[in-house]
Amino acid sequence: MNANETKNDDEIGARLKRALADTFGFRSFRPYQEEIVRAILGGEDVFAIMPTGGGKSLCYQLPAVCSEGMCVVVSPLISLMKDQVDAALNNGIDAATLNSTTSSSEYREIAEHIDQNRLDLLYVSPERFKNPRFKELLKNAGPSFFAVDEAHCISQWGHNFRSDYLELGQIVDEFPTCPVAAFTATATEQVGQDIVSSLKLRNPHCVKASFDRPNLFYQIAYKEDVERQLLDFLKECPDESGIVYRSTRKSVEQTAATLVKNGYKAEAYHAGISDADRIAVQDRFARDETPIIVATVAFGMGIDKSNVRFVVHGDLPKDVESYYQETGRAGRDGAPARCLLLFGYQDVAIHRSFLKDYEDETARAAAEFRLNEMARFAETDGCRRVNLLRYFGETYKPRALDGDAEEDVAEGCGSCDYCVGACKRVDATIDAQKALSAMARTGNRFGASHLTDILVGNLTEKIEKFGHNALPTFGVGKDKSKRYWRYLIQALLSQGIAEIDPSREYPIPQVTSLGWEVMRGRRTVEIVERPDRATKKARSKAVRGAANLKDALNSKDRKLFEALRALRAQIAKAENAPPYVVFSDKSLVDMAILKPRTDKEFLECSGVGVRKLQNYGTEFIAAVERFLEEN
Ligand code: ADP
Ligand code: MG
Repeated sequence: MNANETKNDDEIGARLKRALADTFGFRSFRPYQEEIVRAILGGEDVFAIMPTGGGKSLCYQLPAVCSEGMCVVVSPLISLMKDQVDAALNNGIDAATLNSTTSSSEYREIAEHIDQNRLDLLYVSPERFKNPRFKELLKNAGPSFFAVDEAHCISQWGHNFRSDYLELGQIVDEFPTCPVAAFTATATEQVGQDIVSSLKLRNPHCVKASFDRPNLFYQIAYKEDVERQLLDFLKECPDESGIVYRSTRKSVEQTAATLVKNGYKAEAYHAGISDADRIAVQDRFARDETPIIVATVAFGMGIDKSNVRFVVHGDLPKDVESYYQETGRAGRDGAPARCLLLFGYQDVAIHRSFLKDYEDETARAAAEFRLNEMARFAETDGCRRVNLLRYFGETYKPRALDGDAEEDVAEGCGSCDYCVGACKRVDATIDAQKALSAMARTGNRFGASHLTDILVGNLTEKIEKFGHNALPTFGVGKDKSKRYWRYLIQALLSQGIAEIDPSREYPIPQVTSLGWEVMRGRRTVEIVERPDRATKKARSKAVRGAANLKDALNSKDRKLFEALRALRAQIAKAENAPPYVVFSDKSLVDMAILKPRTDKEFLECSGVGVRKLQNYGTEFIAAVERFLEEN
């Protein structure tokens, strides 16, 4: 680079930074954002893989603001487009959407705006490209570039193929001078190749961001009683918004009912609910009117709600990809969020029983492999983040702590149950021998509930009927609870010390050859101490900081946060928009900590740009002042 180019480069950098602050209220770019923006402005095609919450929208919105013509964004879901347009308008970007719900009078109005070159961003659904009138309109306007969001929808190998996306191959032919930028959060090698070739990208600038989601706290516990564990978990994040995934419609309904009975605002969502009701539930969730949704995996696509503060899996996802995608819906705004997975061995058995439904053997084998990997991830010791990223072929590099000295580099991520010391391993050889002996002495024919009754010495009818109270094992485990013994049996199952016979209708644990070694005293057993015993103290050891918002704020700031959140809800209601479109949780956290009292201070808060200062500054600053006076 010569001196002139360097100067030019600095100038562009400064200009982009200013636009980032003025329009979006952000002080710095997320990884790869600036690189992508520059590539687009430089006329290159782009193919970018970035995780959910990585900030893909900004990659095309910022160049749209900085360049002359408009950017045409292709997006698969109407609900997503609507939200994105609302959010863009709220930042002062001129945006509109054309899709199947657009009325002809709206169409005329938007077409006029396009003609007069007044739009920065136009969101369209892919099937628009079948329409000659629409293409004519675009050609006359001369867009500056195209962005294809959720680009994996173009691939049959992807998990979300949409045939309409194939129309997008025309873009390059019909608009040869416009750069095309494709974005996705999930792309295997195959899907990536499909995207590049189907969109006919021309020597694209390729970017693959890390899949790490630094603000997510990962937690895995053995499943004992989903609803009790869930209620315990929710005590730690009261008033927060989140998603609870369950595997069946029935369990969704039940869990939702339990939450409601316990005073939580929760609703159920599954494929058995009518389309109209599903849309309504989703809408109430977006607007924080129903903060908690209990759902099957049918829920999630098409939700851009940035303030999802937790995702709980009450049942085991079928593979790590699904787990990553579903947990990825938490904390898009970058504020702390928690992900809890309840892992039960019986779930592996249930998924396994579905494998026989595959007709294609290769597909079945692949699904089985992925299921085994999921089980392995759930029960493998060590940092959850390291294990998760390893699955995606990424080596996690722990961040250096303050001081940056070599010794300061943490071993794990510091932000999962394992790293904060919530998962202490303890020796459980003697207890394992007791439990295995209960299995063996009853002929490996009884379920976990009966076995635990024997261990704690519970004289049930069934025990009397089989004379199991006469066994030497009867009552040997009285010193511990039934819950403990169920948990231990789970641990034995997941370590292969006991196993479930898949040919039986009910899950019956039985001793394996490893188990016999334990019984003979040739092998010791360690289990992870029950995670719910983890003390608060252990959690506060987290080097990455907070597991949830409560931890991020001291009690005074938390109070202000609540006041600001109430104000946000009120404004959102008046504007008929979801609250996160007004401000993200991250913005509110900043305001609660920084307590802005001037316009300049208000602009310092993440997510506050020029337009939001104009629209909301007075009200929020007044709320801060009121709070400071009262406290
Ligand atoms: P994706 O589409 O990749 O899942 P989004 O574009 O929806 O992610 O962005 C997720 C969140 O991150 C949004 O709330 C957005 O405002 C925020 N965000 C994007 N870029 C930045 C940035 N540079 N600094 C702070 N927040 C950002
Ligand atoms: Mg997105």
